[in-house]
Amino acid sequence: MARVTCVRCGTENEGLTAPPLGGALGREIVARVCVDCWVAWRDESFRLINHLGLKPADPSDRQRLYVILREYLKLPAAAESPSG
Ligand SMILES: [Zn+2]
Repeated sequence: MARVTCVRCGTENEGLTAPPLGGALGREIVARVCVDCWVAWRDESFRLINHLGLKPADPSDRQRLYVILREYLKLPAAAESPSG
């Protein structure tokens, strides 16, 4: 299993085995975020979806969630517009 130096927790840890999201963002997460931090984000995202009343099926809500995801995982802002 691939190991990554995680941008969020700063340790070398197990990475994800497959992109959790489509497109460049999913590849970035595989390359830079460990599985523990991804699991932590998953829990946080469910809390946020409920708290903020976001609808992940809605493209604008999904973009909002991705912005929060980048802040949470300490990924730099998107250079390209995410799609797919
Ligand atoms: Zn981590």
